[in-house]
Amino acid sequence: MIVSKFGGTSVGNYQAMCHSAGIVAFDRNRTFVVISATSGTTNDLIALSAVDLNSTAKEELLIGIKNRHLEIIEQLSSAKNEAEQAFRKDLTALRQHLDLVARDKRWKDKLYAFGELISTKIFIHILKEEGVDTEWLDARELMKTDSVFGNATVDRKLLTKKMAGLDTRRKTYLTQGFIGADIFGNTTTLGRGGSDLSAALFAEALQAETLEIWTDVAGIYSTDPRIVSKAKPIEQITFDEAAELSVFGGKVLHPATLKPAIRAGVSVRVASTKEPDEPGTLIVHTSEEKPVIRAISLRKNQTLLTVKSLDMLHQYGFLAKLFQVLADHKISVDLVSTSEVSVSLTLDTAVNAANKVELTKEVMEELQEFCDLKIEKDYALVALIGNKLDETAGVSGDIFNKLTDFNIRMVCHGASENNICFLVDEEDGEAIVKLLHKEFIESKE
Ligand code: ADP
Ligand code: ASP
Ligand code: MG
Repeated sequence: MIVSKFGGTSVGNYQAMCHSAGIVAFDRNRTFVVISATSGTTNDLIALSAVDLNSTAKEELLIGIKNRHLEIIEQLSSAKNEAEQAFRKDLTALRQHLDLVARDKRWKDKLYAFGELISTKIFIHILKEEGVDTEWLDARELMKTDSVFGNATVDRKLLTKKMAGLDTRRKTYLTQGFIGADIFGNTTTLGRGGSDLSAALFAEALQAETLEIWTDVAGIYSTDPRIVSKAKPIEQITFDEAAELSVFGGKVLHPATLKPAIRAGVSVRVASTKEPDEPGTLIVHTSEEKPVIRAISLRKNQTLLTVKSLDMLHQYGFLAKLFQVLADHKISVDLVSTSEVSVSLTLDTAVNAANKVELTKEVMEELQEFCDLKIEKDYALVALIGNKLDETAGVSGDIFNKLTDFNIRMVCHGASENNICFLVDEEDGEAIVKLLHKEFIESKE
């Protein structure tokens, strides 16, 4: 069986929904379907969480959400009234939720979940119109999570147990990505772009053969095609390379997606609903072709935190203490570089990062008890993804020779055979990606 996940643009309007439903109908092995909110809706909901109760901005955002969905509902051939009634009920519930005074993380997760709940309630009718006998499932009944709102972790054992009751041989199921619920019944979310992860966890629990990630580009590209128009889809990429790429900014996959797939031996395909006949990208265990540089990714909004203390000089335990504080506050660190008396760390502070980091007053105060801090913002992380990067002679020289016009703030090389990455000024990020893509990827074609 196949678990198929359709992202925001693939369910963004009536036509896109019809294409996606057609794909499900085409292969009867596609019996578990996960979808995101319609494109733009999660961003609107996040914006709603920050606007004033009586502002025109709030009304504008709500009208945007309403029109986007009513436009789809109006084009349904059957069940139009039923769908509209359900949608209006959800809109009322959304308004009521916005009227609540609490604006904490729990409140936010419940707000964000409206996007996926609404999209699935409409998409089910389109699946039925395509002749697919489908049952709608509330993901919050299946994905039981901890109570870390905004970045919840799923209880996999419980998920497997709950999924055991489904009969994917007889029926197709449709559910939401991105959302879950804690044991108290509070709605949680898995982080931005989390529908990919949801789909992978469902695929693992169902022991599916294949996980399909249907999106708006025909696979994983050699770099973000929005930055480099000559970027090309990669036919086959290994799990290791794809994991590095998604962690370092290839937005096409949520960084945690591949773990469940690897664990359960599920094969993964990334493909485009706009060009469903294109092969897309197959993620495999071993690939015959192993270029030294396969892809380049860019992640903006990076913050560099430098921690300095004379106590570090010939001392042990300093790093442990530092990382303990960060761990206590659930702060995830990406790159690390150390000298005798200081440590520099990069943190992802992008608003839509899967694991957005916030350097709160509490964390800073705790750290300042034993070291001096320096915070520098507006950096971008460039990563080159490939194979044997740790043992190929001259590779870093070749790369950095091309970048003599740019300031490279920090470099990480050697920890992984699949990646070399470095920190640059954010405003240089795209130019560097374009240049490296031309030198190391286009020139090899
Ligand atoms: P979805 O809504 O389907 O989950 P996303 O917007 O999350 O889609 O991810 C798809 C987007 O990721 C593409 O439109 C593309 O611009 C961007 N992207 C970034 N890096 C890459 C890459 N290496 N390959 C393909 N797409 C990429
Ligand atoms: N709708 C959510 C988001 O925009 C989850 C997803 O699309 O994967 O982040
Ligand atoms: Mg996505």
